Amino acid sequence: MTMITPETVRKVVAEVVREVVSRREQTAASDGIFADMDSAIVAADAAWREYLGCSMKDRARFVKVIRDVSLVPENLEYMARSAVEETGMGNVPDKIAKNRAAAELTPGTEDLITEAWSGDDGLTTIEISPFGVIGAITPTTNPTETIINNAIGMIAAGNAVVFSPHPRATKISHWLIRKLNQALAEAGAPANLIVTVTEPSIENTNAMMQHKLVRLLVATGGPGIVKAVLSSGKKAIGAGAGNPPALVDATAMIEKAAKDIVDGASFDNNLPCTSEKEVLVVAPVADLLKFEMLKNGAYELRDPELIAKLVALIVDGRHAVPDWVGKSATVLLEAIGVTAPPGTRLVIAEVPFDHPFVRVELMMPVLAIVRVKDVDEGMDLAVLAEHGNRHTAIMHSTDVNALTKMAKRIQTTIFVKNGPSYAGIGIGGEGYCTFTIAGPTGEGLTSARTFARRRRCVLVGGLNVR
Ligand code: NAD
Repeated sequence: MTMITPETVRKVVAEVVREVVSRREQTAASDGIFADMDSAIVAADAAWREYLGCSMKDRARFVKVIRDVSLVPENLEYMARSAVEETGMGNVPDKIAKNRAAAELTPGTEDLITEAWSGDDGLTTIEISPFGVIGAITPTTNPTETIINNAIGMIAAGNAVVFSPHPRATKISHWLIRKLNQALAEAGAPANLIVTVTEPSIENTNAMMQHKLVRLLVATGGPGIVKAVLSSGKKAIGAGAGNPPALVDATAMIEKAAKDIVDGASFDNNLPCTSEKEVLVVAPVADLLKFEMLKNGAYELRDPELIAKLVALIVDGRHAVPDWVGKSATVLLEAIGVTAPPGTRLVIAEVPFDHPFVRVELMMPVLAIVRVKDVDEGMDLAVLAEHGNRHTAIMHSTDVNALTKMAKRIQTTIFVKNGPSYAGIGIGGEGYCTFTIAGPTGEGLTSARTFARRRRCVLVGGLNVR
């Protein structure tokens, strides 16, 4: 009979403890969530080096895994519900639509098109090649949408990605990154292609911006973070703030314009950077437009005292008060003592052009209506209201010349004609989806090829069969 000595017990206990710790570490690593930024980046770099050995077919498969995980109905529901709960912003059905669009309509490996020249001197190609580790900073307004969208594009282009989510969206960002890593691991992808840190913070984002293994920074957020990445000394893509004007002229289909504007400006409680933030309408059709908007779920605030009360509540100098960003129209109205009729989804208020509702990027369903004398004055004011962000503008008109003139004058990355603003990111409009619209740095609607380097391969004297 074998004797169990204290020494044996000590050995067994030590072995069990070692096993538990090792399993915990393995789980932590394959979850992609690391205690500190340096460990996260080092792990992502190792993942990227392994990823270089994968085929384009593998990449396409991994992209499909990201889409599939995001599109599981329970996951769509969970992401939307949890993001609303954690951030206190937006609404569940529209967040489901946004996540779905990100998962279904973000381009994958097919976006990487090789250019080639062949002739007497041989064959030269330009191939779209990965950067390596990308540092991606994501906003609170589209937390999971941006992770899905960026992850698909960045992984398709052959990179690994370190996310720096908004601290106010930590829980749901962790949940998604964990899910994606688990599914990628099951599909045989290198561990840690998508990573983040336990405690997202400005300090961690700064550490990421300075880390030597991070080759490209992609910032989706307000002016502060865009300026920060552009000052980092690294290649950076900045997707910054907007303040999209919607211009309505006398030739517009007013009934449709009114519905489109209410749909766009109330979408996810006006959180998208692309949403209509103010309307400029020519005087002869202004009353009709408002009348039609009211039929579609808008509530007009007419009393100047109530308008002033709402300004005092939601505007702080040149900024929106964060606590009210992304709240619903009914909540905002209740806060100033107004009980809105059922079905209210947007507050409208006719104001002069020089009003905070026009000037400030509110990101809540409160829409300024400004009456202008003609379409040219509307264009002048739309350009001013957009603040030179070159982000998004909307116009309702059937006059091709007026539409063309506006597009040339406003110089926005997205110009939606005769539709709701979200048509510009592929929801009900042609074209692919993105949640990172790089106006300041000029890449425009980002996709896999944006997150890549162009590399030239030259074969001299051969493989020309012409
Ligand atoms: P935000 O700028 O407060 O935060 C964005 C991200 O940057 C967060 O992860 C935040 O933690 C980080 N951050 C902000 N300032 C920082 C600093 N100084 N140093 C380090 N990290 C910093 O923006 P938000 O409130 O989450 O999102 C709303 C803003 O983002 C709006 O202005 C909106 O227009 C813009 N946005 C733009 C796009 C686009 O594609 N162009 C998309 C979504 C949102």
